[in-house]
This record gives sequence, structure tokens and C-alpha cells, in this order.
Amino acid sequence: MMTLRSIKLVALIVLSYFSCGTPKESNAVKQKTQTVTATPYTPPKEPLPPPTPKEVAPIEETPKTLSLLFIGDFMGHMDQINAAYNKTTKTYEYDACFSKIKPILSDADVTIGNIEVTLGVKPYSGYPQFSSPPSYAAAIKNAGVDVLTTANNHSCDKRKKGVERTIKILDSLGIGHTGTFINTEEKTKNPAYVIEKNGFKIAMINYTYGTNEIKPTPPNVVNYLDKATIKKDVDLVNATIKPDEIIAFVHWGYQYKDLPNKAQKEMFAYFKSLGINIVIGAHPHVLQPMEWQKPTSETPNETLVVYSLGNFVSHQRTFPRDGGAVFKLTLEKDSANSKKIKIKDADYFLTWVHEPIVNGKKEYYVLPADAYTKKREYFNLEKDYAKMMRFITHARNLMGTHNKNVEEYTE
Ligand SMILES: [Zn+2]
Repeated sequence: MMTLRSIKLVALIVLSYFSCGTPKESNAVKQKTQTVTATPYTPPKEPLPPPTPKEVAPIEETPKTLSLLFIGDFMGHMDQINAAYNKTTKTYEYDACFSKIKPILSDADVTIGNIEVTLGVKPYSGYPQFSSPPSYAAAIKNAGVDVLTTANNHSCDKRKKGVERTIKILDSLGIGHTGTFINTEEKTKNPAYVIEKNGFKIAMINYTYGTNEIKPTPPNVVNYLDKATIKKDVDLVNATIKPDEIIAFVHWGYQYKDLPNKAQKEMFAYFKSLGINIVIGAHPHVLQPMEWQKPTSETPNETLVVYSLGNFVSHQRTFPRDGGAVFKLTLEKDSANSKKIKIKDADYFLTWVHEPIVNGKKEYYVLPADAYTKKREYFNLEKDYAKMMRFITHARNLMGTHNKNVEEYTE
């Protein structure tokens, strides 16, 4: 039991404790007390609703497919240049030529063709040394073409001026290009045309078997279909660009032959040995087969070759040089971050060049061939319709017999 004496002692200790504190410490205690009492807890009036799945922002998915459209040779014969000339305005107008095929050319993420003329060197000329007005390239772009390859047997037709003016005109029009270069430094900087779209990074390289015995004038560079050159370029592209895939567009083969030659097959094998599994060809002025080798347990790498797309537009009227094909390739990725690309679809679309006389003047129209099989009344001359049908029949037989896993598509 606590005695009176012990109560007094406790009271004395308590008092002395408070008197020993500095004024500051006393204040701190006061302040502390005030702070605590100034923030009473007040519960929310209504409880927050739990998050619902709808309120979570969807994750932006990068598209996993990329469609590429490849077109054969854009030739520029004198008849085409004359047909484009407008005497009233004194200008060259090519837009009409592509008016009927434009929806097809625009129906891909990226459209790529081969321009087999030099641009802008006057006087304009057809075969054998081509030079077309810059408006030709402008119309090609208006038709939906994004990229033009420039390495072909006519690259050096107008020597240094032709090589350089072609590059400058394509640059000024905002058309992508590869195959010829002003000099080695330019080629080293951009050894490929790079397509970066939908999360894909594709490098396009372009080579020609030759330039009709006219060598490029230094310092110009034309990419020749030479194994050592290709190997060096591919190593550079892989080291500097690091693409998901390299696609080669090559100018090769015998003219007017329906089937590829030994050199084409060997060169395709060489590209494959470098890891380039997609090769698109042109130059023979006629169609040659398309082969999509799907992956198997023995050959896990799928490969694809189009030996020749034929003429897209030209004044070559001899069967079967009067038509060509566009080739549609759809690539697929498992995810946006993946470097592994698969071929989703590979199909071709037939085109035919119509040369009617309209109001006393020759015109050029690239037609979507299949659609015009049902428009017989469109043709003023029955023989033109018959000619188109002959081209289509031949192309379907050839592709039907020799193509592997590549079928025709229509509008
Ligand atoms: Zn050619």
C-alpha cells in the first residue's frame, strides 16, 4: 500500500520532470499535441467503387502484318513518251496510263517497282537508250508506288548525267530508291532502302546482271549481281541496319523465256546461303514462275522466289510481252518485338497494257486484266480483247503449271 510519504515523493518527481525541460522542448511537446489533435480522421462519404475491366486502358497492339506489292518493269519507249505529250500544255502527262490500275497499286502497305529508264535527260528517248520526263516518275508515285529500284541494264543509258539526275528526281519527288548511287560514300551510308512500318524493319537491296556494256562513270555506283559485292553489302546491311528481313529485287534472266535459266537458280541459291530467303526478279519482259517453299521439318527456312514479273508498262506488243503481274506478299510476326518473320500470303495479280487510239491519239492504259475479261464492250477493237485474253490464258497456264503455293488474286 502506498503511504502518504510515497505519494508526495511521486508528485515531486513528476513536477521536477516537467521543470527540467527547455522552453523549446516544452513547446515541441505542445506543438506535437496540437498537430495530432488538428487532423481528425474523416471517413469518405461514399466508398470508392472497385475498378472495372472497362476502365483499364487497352494495350496498343502494333499490327503484326505488312503487305508489300512488287511490280515489274516500267519501260519508257518513244511511243509512250509521244502518247504522254500534251500539245496544248506542252507537258508530258502520264497519270491516265495508271488510272485503271491505281486501286490495285495502292492496296498494300508499301509498293515497289523497277524503273527501267533514266529520268530528265533531254532529248527524251526510247529504246535503246531510255530517258523519260520527270513527270513519268511523278505519275508512278501518284499511282501508289513508294519505292523504285534503279539497278537494271538501262541504268547507264545516259551516262553520269542520267544516273545522277534520276536519283535527284526520285529524291525530289519523295520516292524511295536503291540500286544506283552517286558515289561509294552514299552507298555505304544507305546500302539498302529500309521499310519501317507496322513494327517491321525490312531492307530492300537491288542488283542487275549488267548495264548493256556501258559502265558507270566514276564516282557513280551501280549494284551488279556479283557474289562478292552482294556478300559485302549483306554483311554491311546486317551490321548497320539490323533488319528483320532482307529482300532482294534483281534484274536477271534471259529475255522472252518463260522459265528461269540456270544462272537465276544458282543466284537464288546464293542469296539463300546468305540468309536472304525472298528474291523478286524482273527483266525478261515476260512472266516467269513464282515459288513459295513453305517450311518443312527438313528445311525449316521458308523461301520465296519470283523469277520474273514481266513488263508492267511498255510498248512491247509481241505476245506475251504485252502484260505482266504484280506480286503481293504479306508478312507476319508473332509479336511486334519479334525479329522472326513468316510469310502469311503470296499471290499474283495479272495486268495487261492496252494501247487504244482515242480521238486520233494513241493512249496507254495498264488494265487489271481479270476485271476486263468481263468488259468486252470496253474494247473498240475485238482484236485487242482477243490479245488480252491470249496473254491471260498463257499466264494462267504458266503459273498454274509451275508456281508453288502462289495463286492468282483478282479485284
Ligand atoms: Zn531489263
